[in-house]
Order: sequence, then C-alpha cells, then structure tokens
Amino acid sequence: MSLAEKLAQERRARLAAERLLHLKQAELSAANRKLGRHAIALTRQIDETQAEVATIRDENEKVKSDLTVANAKIEVAERRLWHSIQTIPDGFAFFDCNNTLIGANAAYLSVFDGLEEVAPGITYPRILEILTHEGIVDIGTEQAEDWHARLLARWDQPYPEPEVIQLWNGQYIRLIDQRGHGGDVLSLALNITASVRHEAELNAARERAEAANRAKSAFLANMSHEIRTPMNGIVGMTELLTETPLNEEQRLYLNTIRNSGEALLVIINDVLDYSKIEADRLSLHPEKFDLERCILEVAMLLQPSVRDKGLNLLVDYDLFLPTLFVGDPGRIRQILTNLVGNAVKFTTEGHVLIRVTGVPDAGARRCDIHIAIEDTGIGIEADKVTHIFGEFNQVEDAQNRQFEGTGLGLAITKRLITMMGGNVWVESEAGRGSCFGFRISLPTAEGPQPAPPDLAGRLRHVLVVEDLAVNRAILTKQLDRLGSRVSACATGTEALSLIDGSVDLILCDHDLPDMDGLELATTFRDKGWRDLPIVVMSANPATIRVDPAHHLIEGVLQKPIPRAELFSRLLALGEPVFKQSRSEEREAIVDHQPIPQQDQRQMRVLAAEDNRTNQLILKKMTKDMNIDLRFVSNGLEAVETFASFDPDLIFMDISMPKMDGKEATGEIRRREIGTGRQVPIVALTAHAMAGDDQGILDAGLDHYLTKPLHKQLIQQMILKHCPDGACPVDESTEPAS
Ligand code: ADP
Repeated sequence: MSLAEKLAQERRARLAAERLLHLKQAELSAANRKLGRHAIALTRQIDETQAEVATIRDENEKVKSDLTVANAKIEVAERRLWHSIQTIPDGFAFFDCNNTLIGANAAYLSVFDGLEEVAPGITYPRILEILTHEGIVDIGTEQAEDWHARLLARWDQPYPEPEVIQLWNGQYIRLIDQRGHGGDVLSLALNITASVRHEAELNAARERAEAANRAKSAFLANMSHEIRTPMNGIVGMTELLTETPLNEEQRLYLNTIRNSGEALLVIINDVLDYSKIEADRLSLHPEKFDLERCILEVAMLLQPSVRDKGLNLLVDYDLFLPTLFVGDPGRIRQILTNLVGNAVKFTTEGHVLIRVTGVPDAGARRCDIHIAIEDTGIGIEADKVTHIFGEFNQVEDAQNRQFEGTGLGLAITKRLITMMGGNVWVESEAGRGSCFGFRISLPTAEGPQPAPPDLAGRLRHVLVVEDLAVNRAILTKQLDRLGSRVSACATGTEALSLIDGSVDLILCDHDLPDMDGLELATTFRDKGWRDLPIVVMSANPATIRVDPAHHLIEGVLQKPIPRAELFSRLLALGEPVFKQSRSEEREAIVDHQPIPQQDQRQMRVLAAEDNRTNQLILKKMTKDMNIDLRFVSNGLEAVETFASFDPDLIFMDISMPKMDGKEATGEIRRREIGTGRQVPIVALTAHAMAGDDQGILDAGLDHYLTKPLHKQLIQQMILKHCPDGACPVDESTEPAS
C-alpha cells in the first residue's frame, strides 16, 4: 500500500474518528443539557419542600404554644374547680368504675376525722365498713351487715335512690350518687340537718295546730252541749208555762223568752255547723230516705211561726215524682229549714210555697230534683242578690234589720248543696218576693213509691173551694192530672152557686173569707146535699175535730197535704161501696177513734234522761196522755228497766252518765235478738253537729228528736207507736204524718 493510500486511509480514519468524536460530543452535550434541566427541577422541588417544612415548623410552634396556653388554662380551671368543690360545705367525691375513690373534698373527708386510710384509692365498700366500725354513722337498731348490704345494693343500682343517713353527732346527710359513662360515680353527701330540724319543727307546729283545732272543735261540741242543755230547759219550760193561766203581760214576756231562746239555739247551731265546714270536718252520710216526708217535716216544724204570722205554707210535690231517694236526709232537712225558714221569716203576708219537680232518669236510677221555695215577702234588691250567699252577709237596710239572724244560713246552705254536687240560685224582686231554688241529683231508692190513683170514672168532678189562688191552682193541676174534672172557686158563696149533681166531691179550705169549711158543709147538708162527700183542708185539723159539726164531713186533710194522704183519701172516696151508703157510714169511716175497753192496758213509755229539768218537761208535755211513763236517769238503768217494764216506746237521751244512749240501745238491741220484737227507740239529742244523726241511727235507734223538745212532736211519736193492744193515749192529738 502506497503512502498516499496510507495517508488517505489515515485521513479517512482520522475523519471517521473526528466524526465519531463530534457525535459523541453532541450526545454528551445533550446529556448535559438534560442533566441541567433535571437539576433545575430538583432544585425547585427542594425549595418547595423546604418551604413546606418551614410552614409545618411554624404550625408546630403555634400548636405547641396553644397547647401550653390550654394546659395552663386547664390547670387554672381544675384548680378553681377543686377550690370550689373544697369550699362547698357538702361532701363531694368521685369513684371510678371499680368503686375506688379518685378524689374527695375536705367536707367529705372531714366526716372520717383524719383517718388516713380514707384517701384516694380506698373502695366504697371499705368506706361503708369504716362508717360503722368507727361509729361514725348511727344505724339505729339495724345490724351493721344488713346496713352494708342495703347500701351496697343501692350503690350498685344504675340510678341509686337518695338515702338519708344520720351521723353520730345528730347530723343528717342525704347521699346522692350518680353513675356516669364508663361506670364512674359522682357522690354527693348533702348536709340536710337544718332542713330536717326545720321540717321537724314544722311537723311539731302542725301537730300543735291540729291539736289546737281538735281542742277547738271539741270545745265547740262541748259548748254546744253545755249551752243547749240549759237552753232546752228554758225553751221547754216556757212552752209549758204558756199553757198555764197567764195575763197578757206575762204571756208577752214568756213568748219573748221562748223566742229568744229558740233564736239563740239557731245561732249556736249555725256557728257550730259553719266552723265544722271550715275545718273540713263535715261529711255527708247518704242513706235511703223519703224526700216528701222530709219536706213535710220541715213544713210541720215551721208551722207554728207560719200560723202566728197568718201565712200559708204550701207544698206542691210533683204527683209523679218518686219519693224514696238516697241522700243525707239530715243535711237536706237543714237546707230546707234554712231556705223555708228564711222565706217565712222575710214574709209578712201571703204564702210560702215549696215546689218539687224532677226529671227521673230510669236507666241511671237517678233523678234530677229541683226544689224551689217561693215567697211573697220583702224580696231582695238586684245588687244584693249575689252578696247574700257570703258568710255573715245580710241585706243591710232598715226593712231587713228588723229580722234577726247570723247571715250564715245561706252560706251553709250553699256549701251543703255544693257538697251534694248541686247548685243553688235565687230570683227576687224587692217588695214582691223571692224564689230560692236548688238542684241536686240523687239516686232513687228501692221501695214502694206512692202510686198516683186513676180517678177517671171514680171522682169525675171535684169542686175545689180555696181562697188562696196558688193553692187552688195546685189542687186543680193535681186533680186534673189524676183524671178528674175540676171546678174551682174562692168562696163558700161561689161554691153554693156552682154545685150541681155532677159533683162527686167537695174539697174545701177551712179558712174561707166568707165562712169556714164546716159552716159551708152545714149549709150544703141543709140544702139537701146529704150524700155529697166533703173533705176540709186545714193547717190545724185539731180545731176542726173538736167542732160539733165535724161529723158532717168525710174527713180533714192536714195542710200541706202529703201525697199519700191525698191519694188514699181520694181513692177511698171514689170507692163504689162508699158512694152508696155515704151518709150512714160517714160516722164509722171518718176519723174513727177506737173505743177504749175496760181491760186494755196503758201504753208503756220508758224515758232515759239524766237531766231533771228535761225529765220534768217530758212529764209535763205528756201529762194529758193516757200512758204509763217511767223515768230512768242513765243507760244502765234503761237496759235494766227495759227487761222488767217491757216498754212500747223508749225515749233515749244520748249523753248520759255510766252508759250513754247509743250503748244502751246497742245492749237493748242485743237482748231483743231472737225475741222477734224491736221496741221503737227515739233519741233525744242536744247534739246538733254533723254526723250525729247518722251515728244515732247507726247505733240502732229508730228516730231522733233534737232538743228543745216540742210537745207536738213528742206526742206524735207516742201516738204513732201506740200498740194495738193498748188503750188510746189521746183523742185530740193529730197522728204524725
Ligand atoms: P240570716 O237569715 O241569718 O240573716 P242567711 O244567710 O240565711 O242569714 O240570709 C242572708 C240574708 O239574705 C238575710 O239576712 C236576708 O237579708 C237575705 N234573705 C235570705 N232569704 C231571704 C228571703 N226569702 N227574702 C228576702 N231576703 C232574704
């Protein structure tokens, strides 16, 4: 190979090497450029990371400082909390779920008087043991084990009931434990000594007050008896004195004494009743009773003042309304006595009408009863009407002040009616009269209710002669509802002009303006109406019976007329047999009095009464009666004499020495067992307080009469119970209706 070739070859090789070098250099610079870019990216990344790290470092610093502040705050709060807990005077402690004490305040620990064992770490059961072992708690008669068991059982409850313990020093601690989440228990030990003592003081004060109240009630009850007994003597004796020969002046004095005595008794009763209602000691004693009888009894009691004032007292008891109900008859009588008594008191002329209507609910066996007491008295101004039902409230005007009273009657009445679930109202017009009404709903009682007779075809036409328009209207309505045609007139003269052959009965009032009932009857008989039945109505039938002309009439009806009496009288008059032989049989049928027979014995009446004055009164009141009256002065003697004397009737005082009237009655009733006999026993009681009547009837007595004794009521009781085998006790006294 030539040199040139060699040179060319070398040049080519050198060129190739240079090209390769060039290539490698290009590659290298590309790699360099890439590296440079990568380095830049890395640097940027490092910068960012460094910035982030700086931020986190800053935040960390902040969190650290916040934490320090928070810790400081927590420390302060905890210190304050503990400080507060330490300063409260009641015990405070925490237990964990294992019943281990975590912490307690000084008050809690102070109870243990420095016992080192009682510190955080001690368990609750051990604390209970220390309490009893060291005598810190007074567990009374309970055994320590029982006490531990009881308190541990309580502690284990999810919601333990508060428990009061007493410490050795007489302090009372109320334990209140509350279980939190995770079983921790927060325990409070409240010192309630002051409130327990306060409560004890209050209890003692209340007991003292109750005892004082009881003493007051007992005092009132005793006072009632103590005042009423001599008052009864005064009133009873004055009643007897009025029957002796007296001049006008003496009679006036005597009447004043009697009226004042009776007024005083009413006041005493009112005050007693009111204080009883006030003390919430008045309760109702429902029993089966006859409402109509109750109303008639009230009417009869008030009859003397009605008669003295020349008023008419009327009862319009709905003919178809039942009469047997379940209620408290004593209290219903009291309501009626107040309302009817007021009506009589505040009326100087005209009438007082007791109107009874009702809406029976057969399904519910109850009846809504409306009783209205209507008078034609002084009335009440419209602006005073609501005022009068308040305590001690009276209408204050000259006209009213002439009437005595306590102003308690209506307040008591209203309370009693409210207690019975009813309501009371009044409608009144000054100068014209008042109408007091009340509504009560009472269950109807089993028993025979008066059945209204059907008079159609029996007494087709009745002539009513009555000057009092309201009574005329009542009788007309009643007879009309029973099926009779009624002609009504106000005077005897009118009656004489109205009479004709169609009239089956003349029902006439005794006090007619132009003639009395017997004069009218005489005129009718003289004019040839011999067979026409005539029945006279009078509030005072005794005066008619003593009149020689009384044989001219078929009978007397006592006003206000009981429905049963009216029904039976009308039925008897409507009997065909009666109609045929009327004039012949009149004497035998009407007001027949049995003729005394020689061998008949006297009615035996036993009176148990310790008070000499009352014995005397009873003796005088029955002096005209043909009875064998024997006195004993206590319950023991009553029981003994009952066996030997075999009385037909016993009057029994309730408050007597040795054995009281209720006990004596109980003993008599025991002795009667198996004999088939039950002697009627009538309580004579001075007690007017609530529940007395019920207590008396519960004790086995049949009736009761409150003192002062009234001659008429005593005589009626005797008449009512006179046995068939005994001779008549009296011929002039009206039997009880
Ligand atoms: P008292 O009759 O003892 O005064 P009440 O409480 O029974 O007490 O009656 C309160 C008052 O209501 C009576 O004083 C009287 O002014 C008035 N009052 C009650 N009933 C009637 C009546 N029927 N007519 C007129 N006023 C009456």
